Amino acid sequence: MMLAAAPAQLQARTAAPGKARPKPASRRREVKVGGRRVKTIDVHAHCVIPEALALLGKRLDDQRGPGIGEVGERRIREMDEQGIDMEALSINPQWYRAERDLVTQVVKIQNERLAEFCATYPDRFVAFASVALQYPDLAVQQLVDGVKRLGLRGAAVGASVAGKEFSDPMFHPFWAKAEELGVLIFIHPQSTPDLAPRLKGNGWLANTIGNPLDTTVALGHLVFDGVLERFPKLKLVAAHGGGYVAHYPARMDHVWGARADARTVLKNTPRRSLAKVYFDTIVFDRVQLEHLVKLWGADHVLAGTDYPYDMGMYDPRGFVGGAALTAADKAKILGLNAARLLKVRVPAASKAGRARARR
Ligand SMILES: [Zn+2]
Repeated sequence: MMLAAAPAQLQARTAAPGKARPKPASRRREVKVGGRRVKTIDVHAHCVIPEALALLGKRLDDQRGPGIGEVGERRIREMDEQGIDMEALSINPQWYRAERDLVTQVVKIQNERLAEFCATYPDRFVAFASVALQYPDLAVQQLVDGVKRLGLRGAAVGASVAGKEFSDPMFHPFWAKAEELGVLIFIHPQSTPDLAPRLKGNGWLANTIGNPLDTTVALGHLVFDGVLERFPKLKLVAAHGGGYVAHYPARMDHVWGARADARTVLKNTPRRSLAKVYFDTIVFDRVQLEHLVKLWGADHVLAGTDYPYDMGMYDPRGFVGGAALTAADKAKILGLNAARLLKVRVPAASKAGRARARR
């Protein structure tokens, strides 16, 4: 039995000055792997800020996902039930076509609110900054401000920007800054609207197929246009197990070997570039999870839930715990990798009591 859950009575947390003091939550499922307490970190957890949505002319009621507009007691209760110690909050970009003044305001509100959530519940949330990538110079400023002033741990981006691919040289300054800061960039798809006529009909194919495809196309450009070679220390985590390409890099390697026009920029095999990327665990099948680990190593796989969507997986502990992986690899996937990448302090002691005592 590699995993065991032990309930822990949570203590009331110290709120940031001037903030309402959160009430004690219910009982949290603690995750243990091989007898050791593992701080479980969810790198794929959505939220929205209603005030920022309103500026964009959108309504909270039109956003999918129950509770997506709330970062507080309800979410913490659900995290406790799921055995999630900490979420890395992100907001899916709905602002890539907004003009500069508006998007400046939207991103400012979002990043400041995200920072407030993290300050109010410092052991439950970290966050990815929002950035206005359609104005790369602005996005660079927002990333620096988010990380240095607000303590955010990276940035969340889509899979393309208003029709521009991530490998466009206009985005190089952003990748360079992310690399320099050593922060994690979360790539989350926004379907493939160009394929809408083919993805209509049964099966919600715009999401079922369109989302992993969107991520796959993004990674394809980042690889073959040499972005991952140009910025070798850039840290990207790709949603939904990285889409299809994470499981099928061999076709990329083949074209690189077979055709000179696939090697115009890329110096080494596509697989060498992909090996720098991190992937979340939202793949629904343990064989797929094991395949990710086999291809890219346990160091490159991070637990995620896709909270609060109906396409989510809400038991990473059970999912990862039941996979044919070593206890050490499970601990990395459930939290140690994310803690390292997101600069989250993890308890040095394996004793749950000592860990709780520090909260
Ligand atoms: Zn998602």
